[in-house]
Amino acid sequence: MSDYDALIIGAGHNGLVCAAMLAKKGQRVLVLEALPQTGGLAQMRSFHAGFRAPIAHSAPAFSKRVADKLALKKYGLEFGSAQPTVGLSENGTHIRLLGDEVTGASPSDIAAYPDYRKKLRRYAKALDGVWHNTAPRLGTGLKDALVYAQNGLKIRLLGKEDMGEFLRVLTLPMRDLIDEVFETPELQGLLSWDGVIGSKLAPRSPNNAILPLLLKMNRPEGGDMLVPKGSMNALVKALSEAAMAAGVTIETGQSVKQILIEGKETGQRATGVELADGRLITADKVISSADPKTTFFKLLGPQYLEIEFSNRMKRLRTDGFVAKFHMALSKAPEITGISDLTGRFLIAPSFDAIEFAYDEAKYGTPSTHPVMEFTLPSLSDPTLAPPGQHVLSAHVMYAPYSEKTGWSEATRAQFETRILDTLQGYIPNLAEIRQAHELLTPVDIEREYHITGGHWHHGEMALEQMLMMRPTYQAAQYATPVPGLYLCGAGTHPGGGLLGIAGWNAARQILK
Ligand SMILES: Cc1cc2nc3c(=O)[nH]c(=O)nc-3n(C[C@H](O)[C@H](O)[C@H](O)COP(=O)(O)OP(=O)(O)OC[C@H]3O[C@@H](n4cnc5c(N)ncnc54)[C@H](O)[C@@H]3O)c2cc1C
Repeated sequence: MSDYDALIIGAGHNGLVCAAMLAKKGQRVLVLEALPQTGGLAQMRSFHAGFRAPIAHSAPAFSKRVADKLALKKYGLEFGSAQPTVGLSENGTHIRLLGDEVTGASPSDIAAYPDYRKKLRRYAKALDGVWHNTAPRLGTGLKDALVYAQNGLKIRLLGKEDMGEFLRVLTLPMRDLIDEVFETPELQGLLSWDGVIGSKLAPRSPNNAILPLLLKMNRPEGGDMLVPKGSMNALVKALSEAAMAAGVTIETGQSVKQILIEGKETGQRATGVELADGRLITADKVISSADPKTTFFKLLGPQYLEIEFSNRMKRLRTDGFVAKFHMALSKAPEITGISDLTGRFLIAPSFDAIEFAYDEAKYGTPSTHPVMEFTLPSLSDPTLAPPGQHVLSAHVMYAPYSEKTGWSEATRAQFETRILDTLQGYIPNLAEIRQAHELLTPVDIEREYHITGGHWHHGEMALEQMLMMRPTYQAAQYATPVPGLYLCGAGTHPGGGLLGIAGWNAARQILK
C-alpha cells in the first residue's frame, strides 16, 4: 500500500484547496512545500527588519464558491468591504472607482460607467460555470459535448443582442473596448490595468485581455479591490487550517527533487516522489501545483514524455513581466489630493503610458517610465510594520524576465531609481519617510518561489493557453499523459491569480 492516497507538490493556495477537498472526501493527503511556510505567492516575506509583505497583495477574485465549500469563514477568512481603485494623476485630480461609481472623470464618462460595468459583470456571470468546471476536451464524447452545450446556453441566455456584443468584445484589445466608451485618459489607463496586469500585454495587444479581465470579475464585488480582514495572512492561515482540519498532513521546508515513475515503457505510472534530502514517499496520485514547466522538466524529466507533448510544453509562454517592489516607511505616505489611503493606487495615467512602458520591455529593456499599482498592506494588518510605520507594496510593469543584461546590478539599480522617482512624483514625503526597499524581478521570483519565468499566472493567460488548451490540450483536464500524475496550480484552467479555482476543479476531477 502507498504511504498516501494523494501527494501534493506545493502548498500555494491552489495546492491547499486541492488537498482540503481531497481529504474531505476521505483521501489520505500529504502536501510537501519547499518554502518554510505555506501560501506560495500569498505568504508574507520579511524584506527589512520588522517589515513584511506578501507578493500577491489583494484577492479580488478569490472564488466565493470555494470559500463557502471549504467553510473558510470558520477558519477566520472574512473579506473586508470592497476598496476603491484610485488612478493617480500628476495634477492631483485623481479618478476614483468603487462599485458602479466613478469620480474625477468627465461628466459623460461618469454617466457611462455604470452601464459599462454592468455589461461586463453580466458577461463575467455568464462565464462563471466555465471557470468553475473542468474545461471540456476537444472533439470527444457526449459528456464533453454536454459541457459545451451548458456553457453555450448560459451565454445564449444573455439574449441575442447581448450575446452578439459579448462575442464581439471577447477578442478586442483593452484599448478598443475602453475608448469606444470613455474619453478621460486617466480613466482609460485605469480601466485597462486589470486586463493587462500579470501578462505580456498592453492596451493595444489583441485577443488576450478580456477573458482574464472577466475572470477577475467573478465575485459578487465585480473585480473591486478586496483584501481579507487581517491581510493575506488570514487567507493562508484559513486555507492551511481547513486542510489540516480535514486531515491533511503539511510538511514545509521539503523540496521535491523528482517524481518517481515505475513500470515499463508501455505501463509507466507516477508512484511518489523523492525529496531533496533523499527521502522517498509513495502515493497513488502525485498532484503538482508547481508550474507546468517545473513539473514536467525539472521534477519528471522529458524522458517520460512524448516528443510532441514535450515540445508543446517547451513552447509554453512563461516569461514574467511584473516586478514586485516593497518599501519600509517610517510613517504614512502623503499622496497629493488623497486623504484616505485605503484601496489601491494606480500610476498608469493613460493608455499610452502603459503602452510605451510595454514597448521597451518587449525588446528586453525595463520600462524607462514604469507603470504600477500600489497598496499599503499595513493598513489592514498593522503587524506588518512596527507601530505607526507602514509597508508599501507595488506591482511594477514592465520588468522583462529575459532582460538584455540578465538583470545586472547596474540595471537593477537603474530600475529601482526609476520606480522611486515615479513614486516620488505622487508621494512628496517619500524621501523623508523611506527606510528601505526591495526589488524582486521575475528572475528573483523564479528563484525564490520556484516559478518558471517568475510568471504571475505560471504561464501566459493567452487564448492559445487558456480553457481547454491550458496548459495544453493533452493536459487540460488536470490529468497528464503520465498516469498517476496530475496538475492543480495556476498553470491549469482557469489560470492564475488568487482564485482557488484550479485547485478546486482539479480535486473534483481527480475524485471522479
Ligand atoms: C509579482 C506578483 C504579484 C501578484 N499579485 C497578485 C495579486 O495581488 N492578486 C492576485 O490575485 N494574484 C496575484 N498574483 C498571482 C498569484 O499570486 C498567483 O497566480 C497564485 O499565487 C498562484 O497560486 P498557486 O497556488 O497556483 O501557486 P503558487 O502560489 O506559486 O504556489 C506553488 C507552490 O509550490 C511550491 N513548489 C514549487 N516547486 C516545488 C518543489 N519542487 N517542491 C516543493 N514545493 C514546490 C512553491 O514553493 C510554491 O509555494 C501575483 C503574482 C506575482 C508574480
